[in-house]
Amino acid sequence: MNRPRVEPASAPVPATETPWIGPHGEIMRRLELHLTYTCPERCVFCSEDKRMAQYKPYPVTWGRVAKVLRDHATRGGTHLHITGGEPSIHPRFIDVLSLAKRLGLQTSVGTIGTMLSREAFAREALEHLDEALFSIHGPDAATHDALTRREGSFVQVTTALRRALELKPGFRAAVNTVLTRQNAARLPETLAFAESLGAGLIVISNTTPEGAAEDAYAELALPLEELQALVPKAVAATRGRAILRFFGVPYCVLGEHKLLSNDLHWDPRVTVEWASKPGAVVFDGVWSWDCGRRRVYVEACGGCSMKGVCRGVFDKYAELWPTDLLRPITSGAST
Ligand code: SF4
Repeated sequence: MNRPRVEPASAPVPATETPWIGPHGEIMRRLELHLTYTCPERCVFCSEDKRMAQYKPYPVTWGRVAKVLRDHATRGGTHLHITGGEPSIHPRFIDVLSLAKRLGLQTSVGTIGTMLSREAFAREALEHLDEALFSIHGPDAATHDALTRREGSFVQVTTALRRALELKPGFRAAVNTVLTRQNAARLPETLAFAESLGAGLIVISNTTPEGAAEDAYAELALPLEELQALVPKAVAATRGRAILRFFGVPYCVLGEHKLLSNDLHWDPRVTVEWASKPGAVVFDGVWSWDCGRRRVYVEACGGCSMKGVCRGVFDKYAELWPTDLLRPITSGAST
């Protein structure tokens, strides 16, 4: 692929501006950049499907991206996570990574492996990439491809993960697996498979009611009882080589595995994405100081000592189904 030449940048950029500081004194270190709103997959749970339909005509220009990166670096940012759509499709994807490294940022990408499955591209991108979160939603092509609704998706993403580890020994390969009713029974095998591929971190993402997943939430979301029964089986399926994290799962549902809650390991972030404003479409930042995205507290949470750390249950779940299973924790993390 021919790519325009990138202007040299002075690097690393010292933090010359006041950092963004949260309500409890947290410093904003992480930038999540929605680089593109296009993707070859058609995942049944895609959180971005509406924005992809709406914003496809507005590709992010190099000038905008470079400004966002420089602003973040001068505010003391240390980490860039690139997401989409499928971000590796962006024609300046490697330039974005390269600039981020020259600004002194750690780089990661959330990907279904579209371009990283190609050896020449992967070789070039990996020079500037520290970590990737590969989306793998089943232990085999039948399970994964049924959810991404594209034949060949499983082969592509597993090729990309294997290739990254071959080309860059020590590369931080992580896996994100979205948990739905359709693939829940295969979760233990999925985790064992991801671990066998060499993933050092596996994030099990409970169906989040956003985009297509909000429209189909009743068909996709796993009942809390089934989720609770699945957790110990999932943990037992791995050999302890990969770190597990449960995203979007109430802390009390995790039982003895509650320390695997992603709520305990979440960093504040500024998410830069396209958004509709009155009379305009803007490429703008959303500052998030906690991981409470679409999650709410129910009556049981009132007396819970973990309220504020655990962010509760998804709002759509509480709207549709009983939450009697949630149990307040009365003695901190040891209960
Ligand atoms: S009772 Fe509510 S706040 Fe407490 S762990 Fe359960 S979901 Fe979280």
